[in-house]
Amino acid sequence: MVSRVASLRTVAGARRCFGAAARLSEIAPSVWRVGEGRPRVAVLGGVHGNELSGVEVVKRLVSEMRGTTEHVEGEITLAIGNPPAVSRGVRFIHQDLNRCFQEVVGDPAMPLGMEHEQSRAQVLMPSLRGLDVLLDLHATNKPSKPFARLPGPVAGRKERFASAERVFLRALPASCRTILWDPDTLIAGGAMSDEYALQHAPFEACQRSGEQIHPAYICYESGLASDKSSAGAIYSAVHACFAELGVLRCPNTDSAVEEALGREWEHFEITDVFKLDSRGYEWINGFGSQNFQVLPPGAAFGRRLEPPEELHAPTGRDSYLIFPKGKAFWIPGWPLGWLARKLMPEEL
Ligand SMILES: [Zn+2]
Repeated sequence: MVSRVASLRTVAGARRCFGAAARLSEIAPSVWRVGEGRPRVAVLGGVHGNELSGVEVVKRLVSEMRGTTEHVEGEITLAIGNPPAVSRGVRFIHQDLNRCFQEVVGDPAMPLGMEHEQSRAQVLMPSLRGLDVLLDLHATNKPSKPFARLPGPVAGRKERFASAERVFLRALPASCRTILWDPDTLIAGGAMSDEYALQHAPFEACQRSGEQIHPAYICYESGLASDKSSAGAIYSAVHACFAELGVLRCPNTDSAVEEALGREWEHFEITDVFKLDSRGYEWINGFGSQNFQVLPPGAAFGRRLEPPEELHAPTGRDSYLIFPKGKAFWIPGWPLGWLARKLMPEEL
């Protein structure tokens, strides 16, 4: 059952707001800001340049807010993550920007002049520190149901999920009912935007009208990268988030979001990573074609070539193939994909 109770909530009606008039300004290339103080919210699109729906949403928000006076209480930052990659329609120029959000200046393995994403991360990182809410909008390179990936260790994730659901997830289309956790940071070693934001969260929760706003750092994966059809629903959910936080006084009163209250979320947790080595690789038995593909216990899903070695799913339970990489994204020493397991409700 996807939704037990569906209610229609107008975006304007969520909270009373009384912010000061402010104008959107570009504070760094393709980084725009309006307002000041808390709550501090950031919306990123195009951290991967070929993921179009998030780019569409950020562009729409910028064009809507540019040139008008907004009444904001708090601060909104909007950013296109990797503008040159967006212009070229590619995931990245030199390296994956969403592996660069860490306090390390320069990578000794990176030849001089090949550090575009590292310097871009340095431009974006100040906007990711001290945030109350981050919405980083992504899409996948293989077909996928929509899902949200949430950062942080096992401890406290029930609370982190509750605040993410309250500020954003519940306003997403009912087709989004999947959450992915990576408590051991097997995807990026803790260097993704949402992980960086969590590491640099404010010391104290923001108080608003006597209520506490709990921080939420969310990476939303809306489906296939080339598909822009989800942009409208994401845009409405972002506005619902602004309204829930009381940050924007004059939201688009026409937009309404359908909330599927009590939607039954499924939680998954990354358990394994497998990487490309010098032996080469191929997907086998029809695996590797989509995200969250079910691997029965012990199933052979891939093969290293010379000398040959089959890769098998763990025994005893189903596993799920996460972000399986197509050949275009194979880099020696880098992941070919990840395995996840489904969490029982009591394991959250
Ligand atoms: Zn992405």
